[in-house]
Amino acid sequence: FNYPLPVNEPVLNYAPGSAEKKRLKEVLAELKSTEIDVPMYIGNKEVRTNKKHAMRPPHEHKHVLGYFHEGEEKHVQQAIDAALAAKESWANMSWESRANIFLRAADLIATKYRPYMNGTTMLGQSKNVYQAEIDSACEIIDFLRFNVHFLSDIYRQQPISGPGMHNRMEYRPLEGFVLAVTPFNFTAIAGNLPTSAAMCGNVVVWKPANTEVYSAQMIMRVLKEAGLPDGVINLIYVDGPTVGKVCFNHKDFAGVHFTGSTGVFNNMWETIGKNMGMYRSYPRIVGETGGKDFVLAHKSADPDVVVTALLRGAFEYQGQKCSAASRAYIPSNIAEDVKKKLIAGVKSFKMGTVENFSNFVNAVIDEKSFDNIKRYIDNAKKDEKAEIWVGGKCDKKEGYFVQPTVIEAKNPKYVTMCEEIFGPVLTVYVYPANSFERTLELVDTTSPYALTGAVISQDRDAVELATAKLRNCAGNFYINDKPTGAVVGQQPFGGARVSGTNDKAGSILNLYRWLSARTIKETF
Ligand code: GLU
Repeated sequence: FNYPLPVNEPVLNYAPGSAEKKRLKEVLAELKSTEIDVPMYIGNKEVRTNKKHAMRPPHEHKHVLGYFHEGEEKHVQQAIDAALAAKESWANMSWESRANIFLRAADLIATKYRPYMNGTTMLGQSKNVYQAEIDSACEIIDFLRFNVHFLSDIYRQQPISGPGMHNRMEYRPLEGFVLAVTPFNFTAIAGNLPTSAAMCGNVVVWKPANTEVYSAQMIMRVLKEAGLPDGVINLIYVDGPTVGKVCFNHKDFAGVHFTGSTGVFNNMWETIGKNMGMYRSYPRIVGETGGKDFVLAHKSADPDVVVTALLRGAFEYQGQKCSAASRAYIPSNIAEDVKKKLIAGVKSFKMGTVENFSNFVNAVIDEKSFDNIKRYIDNAKKDEKAEIWVGGKCDKKEGYFVQPTVIEAKNPKYVTMCEEIFGPVLTVYVYPANSFERTLELVDTTSPYALTGAVISQDRDAVELATAKLRNCAGNFYINDKPTGAVVGQQPFGGARVSGTNDKAGSILNLYRWLSARTIKETF
């Protein structure tokens, strides 16, 4: 049975007076007036411990949204046991029945839980309503529906047969369990990583970032309501090293679906490598990691297009997208104009809580992140190789607020041109307008990452040259647009080099990783 290509979930605009705005406001008020108690979900149990962890909005320290129950080593083991116990019946269920559960979850989000998905993401991760809507509503719904479609395409792919023989492919789930480790910055990624593996018939241990438990538990509740059998996805809140220690030391470890930092992903490879020989099969190691994403303007570029790409690309969700524009190369002929408009644009941003929908900028995720971003900004203030064009104020009294900041680097290899900061900091390098080719080389060699990038140009030859020369610099390459905002089914997402294994979330390529095919030949 082939599931037709779905239509992307329409984005609601939350205009003043709209029904969706009214409903979301009610839900935000409800969420803020209820302190929820969040258990781990292991097999058919809701597990509570005596170690409770407060969840607070990053923009409002004094408010408590609720508590989650932190687990320890034994809970990781219990989650693996529960997953393995569910494995046989889940793998043997018809795939159409499995698909229906995820399609139902998508419908539940679209029709009933949308304001709760958005509300928990807004409050828990300090994401404004528009950024929440494209993430915790539309993108998660799209992942679920498109992955069902892609998987149906895979299952239909069959080899040719001949006289006296019949060949077929059986797309089995992996032998063992899959670990999903999800980041705070996209609720949709938290929705995608465990479900894409599970949809293929796998069982999953899911460890979200502490800072996204508030929205992760909503996803889990939706999946349960949609009929996901107990044990197929087990949600635990245990620190990363402990999860790794137990899962990577288990003979039934079959793969990891990861989004997070390059350093953590490298450690995973190393541990898994050391333990090879212990596992039944070679584990699938799938990860999307860091980025140092660029915007390269050509001398023919329209300055307004450059400025819009930078303002949105660098500062939406406080620059905490792996895809965020964080280094820009601006030709000298338009530099003054771009500078003036960029400064004006940044000054026009309103910053504050998510409850006021006109705040474009909210808080960064936590104190560690705030301190790290502030350190880069403070160093730039003192360094003669850098000049702050606009921004630079940081204040963590009420929430972790960092003013969007533009730094001009006098040296193209200045530290903020090279290192991932994961915050609202954009570094600009102004290059002589006639040295585009030399600048292409700089773009290529300045950072080890290759996640996203953009070229802005009205000159076709320059577009062609950049597209060819920067072939390996970005898994997602944009022409005359910002480098963020990939849409499922439209721009399959992922990067290479140290940005990950490039198994393109939201595409058929990703789903192949969670299947292990058996070829069956029968002669007669
Ligand atoms: N898919 C998102 C985008 O295109 C980025 C995902 C991420 O930050 O990992 O902006």
